[in-house]
Amino acid sequence: MVADCIFCSIVAGEIPADVVATTETAVAFRDLHPQAPLHVLVIPRTHVANAAELADREPETVAELVRVARQVTGDAGHDSYRMVLNTGEEAGQSVFHAHLHVLAGRVQAWPPG
Ligand code: 5GP
Ligand code: ZN
Repeated sequence: MVADCIFCSIVAGEIPADVVATTETAVAFRDLHPQAPLHVLVIPRTHVANAAELADREPETVAELVRVARQVTGDAGHDSYRMVLNTGEEAGQSVFHAHLHVLAGRVQAWPPG
C-alpha cells in the first residue's frame, strides 16, 4: 500500500467505494464520475503505476483484470463493452495506480476523444 494513493485506500477499505467484484488479486468498483450506464474500474490490489508495470511485475493479474471485466459486464447483462487503460497524463491518466476502465450500456464512438 502506498500512502496518498486513493486506489490503495479503496483496496484497504479506508475509503468507501461501490465495489461490484473482488478476487484474490483484483477489486472492481464503480467510477465516481461514470461515463456510461456501466462504468467500473478494475484495479490490481498491488500498487503499480500503470498496466505496463503490472504486466512486468504480475502478468497474471493483467489477465485477471480482463476476466473481472468480462464477469462484471456479463453480470449486468452486457455482451458489448469497452476496456480502456489510460497510460500517462497526456492519455488522460489522473490516478497513478493501474486501473482498467470498463464501460458498457451505450453505443461508443470511435475514435475515442
Ligand atoms: P484515469 O483518468 O486515471 O484514467 O481514471 C481515474 C478514474 O478514477 C476517473 O474516471 C475518476 O472518475 C475515478 N476516480 C477518481 N477518484 C475516485 C474515487 O475516489 N472513487 C471512485 N470510485 N472513482 C474515482
Ligand atoms: Zn495505489
